[in-house]
Amino acid sequence: MSIQVLKPKFHIEECLEAIRECLEKGWTGMGFKTVEFEEAWKRYTGHEHAYFLNSNTVGLHLAVKILKLQNGWHDDDEIISTPITFVSTNHAVLYERMHVVFADVDDYLCLDPADVERKITDKTKAVIFVGYGGRVGQLERVIEICKKHKLKLILDAAHMSGTRAEGIFPGTWDGVDVTVYSYQAVKNLPTGDSGMICWKDEEADRITRQMAWLGINKDTYKRANTGTYTWKYDVDYIGYKYNGNAIMAAIALVQLKYLDEENARRREIVKRYNAAFESIPEITIIKAPYHEECSYHIYELAVPDRDAFMEHLASREIYCGVHYRDNTEYGMYRYAMGTCPKAHKLSQHLVTLPLHMWMSDADVQAVIDGVRSYFAS
Ligand SMILES: *Cc1c(COP(=O)(O)O)cnc(C)c1O
Repeated sequence: MSIQVLKPKFHIEECLEAIRECLEKGWTGMGFKTVEFEEAWKRYTGHEHAYFLNSNTVGLHLAVKILKLQNGWHDDDEIISTPITFVSTNHAVLYERMHVVFADVDDYLCLDPADVERKITDKTKAVIFVGYGGRVGQLERVIEICKKHKLKLILDAAHMSGTRAEGIFPGTWDGVDVTVYSYQAVKNLPTGDSGMICWKDEEADRITRQMAWLGINKDTYKRANTGTYTWKYDVDYIGYKYNGNAIMAAIALVQLKYLDEENARRREIVKRYNAAFESIPEITIIKAPYHEECSYHIYELAVPDRDAFMEHLASREIYCGVHYRDNTEYGMYRYAMGTCPKAHKLSQHLVTLPLHMWMSDADVQAVIDGVRSYFAS
């Protein structure tokens, strides 16, 4: 049997039961389960506000858009971000016609605080920090820098569902303005496509709810009219159709129940991988701070000859991945090529090993044996 790099595990019978509730009630859109899941997520994480969206990508867009609106940022103002991420992170800045300045990464593959500080200019307004593979990295230091330079901080927590640092969800830390989670199909809390945006600022949360629903404002008429005038609303913004729906939320509510125990299993696999690979000098293990509380969305190694390594494992039906290509290699970000040498070099050596809930102990051993045999030959 082959071993895939990422494979979601759904608690199928419970999910079907929760979806059935939606279908029987005749409520599959926004509301009902979406509200229930927002409340459950707030209880689970400690975030004060949570709004359920159809993806993390749209959440990052709203984060940039609303901060730009609230703070009077201009087109071409700058946001510092990482080149080692899924392109959603950086597209969010371009959607709002702002400019991405790339800072280099540290040994955790998260933003390097020293380089963040070096890249700050008069035009810098914010930093987007990606919790790579669920890692907290040096977020605390980046928060200090943002406070010192009066920059906003957006946390792309696409990989961070379940990650804690000394029991606290880093997205709730003082100094993080907005945190965006992903419940995309292969993330730690998989649905189909959905996400959550969690603001510190109550007003930003209110604008989000309006902006994610075409800009519709029901408040004015709700106050004046009760009863049947639900069509009598005003429209304040050219908003978007970004809201999540009850079917996705129904799945999320079920999956959330298992998130902590599943992340614990991920950590167990990571521990076995680390123990096995530590003695192989050609391998660089990507470590994590607060590793006992990391969600470990993905497990990364850096190896000298990635193609040969991946081919060797594929010959044993073990399929690896790459997270991520240095974003400055992509056409629209090529202007920044050469500005993040460490990220550029590392990204050519990164390999994602299989790590998911379907892996038996024998599968974990098969991956370990596969890696060992490559370096023994
Ligand atoms: C998956 C991912 C996203 C996008 O999430 P979606 O919910 O698919 O929009 C953003 N950033 C990172 C780092 C991701 O891995």
